[in-house]
Amino acid sequence: TRKIVLSNRFNGLPKPEDFAIKEEELPDVLKDGEILCQAEWISVDPYMRMRASTLNLGDAMIGMQVARVLKSRCPEYPEGSQVVANFGWVERTIFKPERDHGVETIYKMPEMKGLPDSYALGTVGRPGNTAYFGCLRVCKPKEKDTIVVSAAAGAVGSLVGQIAKIQGCTVLGFAGSDNKVKWLQEKLKFDHAFNYKTANLPDVLAQYASNGVDAYFDNVGGEFTYHVMKHMKPFGRVALCGAISTYNSTDSSKPALVPFDYGSMIYKNITMEGLHVLRWRDEWYTGINQLRDWILEGKIIVEETITEGFQNTPEAFINMLKGENVGKAVVKV
Ligand code: NDP
Repeated sequence: TRKIVLSNRFNGLPKPEDFAIKEEELPDVLKDGEILCQAEWISVDPYMRMRASTLNLGDAMIGMQVARVLKSRCPEYPEGSQVVANFGWVERTIFKPERDHGVETIYKMPEMKGLPDSYALGTVGRPGNTAYFGCLRVCKPKEKDTIVVSAAAGAVGSLVGQIAKIQGCTVLGFAGSDNKVKWLQEKLKFDHAFNYKTANLPDVLAQYASNGVDAYFDNVGGEFTYHVMKHMKPFGRVALCGAISTYNSTDSSKPALVPFDYGSMIYKNITMEGLHVLRWRDEWYTGINQLRDWILEGKIIVEETITEGFQNTPEAFINMLKGENVGKAVVKV
């Protein structure tokens, strides 16, 4: 099998030379309870930028994939079936599923009802549930609320905005290019969308959220978040989902510090709540099945940025961190 391993520590934005392809022999015969899986789709996600610092050099990069069971000695995962599993950037894997594995490790391919398999890594998977539970349970949107979403044209953000629209909110989305902004307005029907690289954030908020922001779904952290925080309405909710603006900071021993407006947070009774998608591991299928059905009903539009070829996974990852993806970034093995 082939694996993509970490060959250098990242310094700032990862580079192609930080990865290497390693060949490894797999045993010919499976032991009782084991399955042999072939990766079909591999997910590249922002969290890998941070998690890589916990790997040893030479370790395979971590991450979820959709894989086909080629051989099986485990009745629960028969030959020919598919799984969603945390096998990393690896082509073929031998694995022994145990009963107590949660959705973070391996689960059977959800019933896709004709949707592309790759969606199991996006809208009908982890990013989908992040948006679903993060938006509904943490942002708690009510009809006519004004909600701000950052990294709005990405896998999670594009769904948060659409879920908030389904709840009857006014949605302001921020993304890093004029094309993304156009897509958010024209295709996803966000009420307003802006290029955060060129817009003056305080001015935009003063004009388009003149009564304040009821909920902010934060994918980016940093200075952007500081400005949105200043614009929250009393009893506003801030969902801390990601801080991608800080992930490529070159000195990991010094987290990127940003101003924090305590006064306005306190006087306005703002709730700021961190969220990790695995908090809802026991409700996994509630989220992804609802998202799947919304897609089938035409209520949610899905976009993917597909990179072809296992060996191009690092490139797909780097391009996603650079913002070249619209919707979910995935690799077709
Ligand atoms: P995306 O599909 O949104 O891809 C990442 C996007 O981040 C890029 O397309 C880019 O878009 C944007 N970006 C990159 N650098 C910066 C920057 N310096 N400032 C602002 N935006 C930047 O990825 P995901 O949807 O998978 O993830 C979005 C966020 O959600 C991440 O922070 C991630 O860590 C977090 N997350 C958290 C989970 C949880 O359980 N808490 C689960 C899944 C994701 P642009 O062109 O707009 O800059």
